[in-house]
Amino acid sequence: MAAAGDLKSPSRKGVWVRVPSLAPTRKENKMIKYKTETEEKQIPVGVVCDICKKEYSYSGSECFEAQEFQHIRVHGGYGSVFGDGAALKADICQHCFQEIFGKYLIEV
Ligand SMILES: [Zn+2]
Repeated sequence: MAAAGDLKSPSRKGVWVRVPSLAPTRKENKMIKYKTETEEKQIPVGVVCDICKKEYSYSGSECFEAQEFQHIRVHGGYGSVFGDGAALKADICQHCFQEIFGKYLIEV
């Protein structure tokens, strides 16, 4: 299989044209210098209930508890009791959610 810089494709008139590549190994691109960078990124490992403050890991035996969290996000509009433009959130474990809201929930 040819490298990306060696690819050729037919033009509309059937003439084969060269498709240039910016790959650092191409002879014609030796003037372009490259460096390698390592990027750090945040990976979620657990979640804490805003009511009982218990932490559940996204891995191991607690992963199913973490999956059952309710992540409530509220954005207040005009006339909202929280204020116009308010942005609020709560992460609630299934046990606290059931204790507080269970009696209001109906099966659908
Ligand atoms: Zn909780």
